[in-house]
Amino acid sequence: MIIESERTGAASGQTYEVRNPSTGEVVDQVPSGGPEDVDRAAQAAERAQKKWGKIAPAERARILHRAAEHMLGKLEEIAPILTAEQGKTILESRIEAQRFGENIAWFADLADKIHGQYVTLPDARTYGLVLRRPIGVTGAIVPWNFPLTLAANKVAPAIAAGNCAVLKPSETTPLSTLACVEALIEGGLPEGVVNVVLGHGSGPAMIEHPLIRKIALTGSTPTGRKVMAAAAPQLKKVVLELGGSDPCIVLEDADLDEAAKAISVGRFFNCGQACLAIKRLYVQEGVFDELLEKIIARARKLKPGDGMDKSSRIGPMHSEQQRAEVEAQVQDALARGARVVFGGDRPQGEGYANGWFINPTILVDVSDESRMVTEEVFGPALPVMRIKDLDQALERANNSPFGLGSSIWTGSMAAAHRAVQELDAGYTWVNALQIAHDELPFGGTKQSGFGKEHGLEAFHEYTEQKAVVYGSL
Ligand code: NAD
Repeated sequence: MIIESERTGAASGQTYEVRNPSTGEVVDQVPSGGPEDVDRAAQAAERAQKKWGKIAPAERARILHRAAEHMLGKLEEIAPILTAEQGKTILESRIEAQRFGENIAWFADLADKIHGQYVTLPDARTYGLVLRRPIGVTGAIVPWNFPLTLAANKVAPAIAAGNCAVLKPSETTPLSTLACVEALIEGGLPEGVVNVVLGHGSGPAMIEHPLIRKIALTGSTPTGRKVMAAAAPQLKKVVLELGGSDPCIVLEDADLDEAAKAISVGRFFNCGQACLAIKRLYVQEGVFDELLEKIIARARKLKPGDGMDKSSRIGPMHSEQQRAEVEAQVQDALARGARVVFGGDRPQGEGYANGWFINPTILVDVSDESRMVTEEVFGPALPVMRIKDLDQALERANNSPFGLGSSIWTGSMAAAHRAVQELDAGYTWVNALQIAHDELPFGGTKQSGFGKEHGLEAFHEYTEQKAVVYGSL
């Protein structure tokens, strides 16, 4: 763990193993932290915040830029650590580690652009101001699928706005986060500004800790419910980025080659283990077969393999349990009449014996009652549904408890406009690759959660407004 810039073990002295999802080998032993460690980290962050919150904003920006630059110089060291613990391909790890540093730099640019308001009041001799102040100590709880991106989404706006952070990575992916935070510290990030705690007991302890004033969680919807309930007694602020089941609609007038490319990336990137991912595909009947063929042709090129092997195009799933879950969802769809048109099994051979590999999988004739449609599919399996027209597509797309992302491919402005208005989700891509941009607010509707990451909105979420009245004396 990292508390006050020092590497430290857990107070309990306990450790656990982190394993490589491609090989099953032990990558490292890490401390199994708990409430005592969270307390130490929160106290350290509180002490640090008293100084960090008072540094001139332009200086804060310079410190963060230097730290981010230093971290970005270490991509080649950090990316293999991420691949070893998470399983993703080395290319995916490089992209993700780079996004970590770039995100810190993006929010660093905002550190000296905190603007308030001047407000006239009924008595002309008095006036009001609205200030934006840091919250204090903020907590970040992160899952294993994008350990670095999702940590940066929370920590970068927090520290740029003058807060200090306690960060808890997932139990299974702590090492790359430790490496990134260590690189920021080497690059000049002051003591205690970002502290990292590990272990199962640390998440609940962070929610209960009175010094941690806000919790940002990315995780599953059931975890989101628990975190919200646990935060209620102290009325702690929470941002919840939860599960998704993003629909993608392809109409007959779409550019099918571009759509197929975006669907392949949108479903199979990170071995399908992404919250923002195309998880239900609705294709108009006139182009159904042609588009399906194009998607299958792309899936065929995705050779599964160890993330460190340069020829691998898709890594293993992160754990045995995750793979079993996706396989059970596929079995459920088959039992309800679906057909596999690609994949549906595990790759065979020597390199695959000890990892959680699964082939990219595409199904048709999937009923709307199938688990693949009603639940989140957190792996590389895509149900493709036939639709008559846009009316039917929108109705079926919105028939989900989730509302994270959504997309449409069409040549018609009118159809695109209608989809943008009617898709009930926090994001809609029109004829574009499903990528979350740092510049745009990202967050869900319905059971995908609430609150925003990315963009000015995320920055503002890490400040509190204060009203001030100046009298006439
Ligand atoms: P998870 O919910 O099991 O765990 C997420 C984090 O929460 C981990 O660090 C875990 O230790 C912690 N945690 C678990 N229970 C807790 C509790 N009671 N109190 C405090 N902390 C607790 O999720 P996961 O399996 O690691 O990740 C996959 C899920 O994350 C998927 O559902 C996916 O859709 C979601 N996700 C959402 C987004 C988004 O931005 N909306 C992004 C990526 C992943």
